[in-house]
Amino acid sequence: MNDRVLPVRPAAGGWQSAACRGVDMTTFFPAPGDLATVRRALMICDECPVRIPCRRYALDNRERYGIWGGLTEETRETLIRIGPPPGVSSGSVG
Ligand code: SF4
Repeated sequence: MNDRVLPVRPAAGGWQSAACRGVDMTTFFPAPGDLATVRRALMICDECPVRIPCRRYALDNRERYGIWGGLTEETRETLIRIGPPPGVSSGSVG
């Protein structure tokens, strides 16, 4: 059982169309090594109309856990460490 506290996703008008609405949130917080679930979450994010603001939210707020905006924990860590390319905001990465 996942004992992590699941963070509340940002709530605002556009988020109503998020592709993860109604999806079991454990999909976005897979157990270590559960690559099938990671792939499923990334596929859902890939079709999401609010992927970019979701990604920006996660990067700006240094969300440590879970898949947000089509980025895994590891990818976000790398992006935060190296920073976005010059002239590109964090939310535009990817
Ligand atoms: S990008 Fe992914 S995690 Fe973010 S709102 Fe969309 S489906 Fe949910």
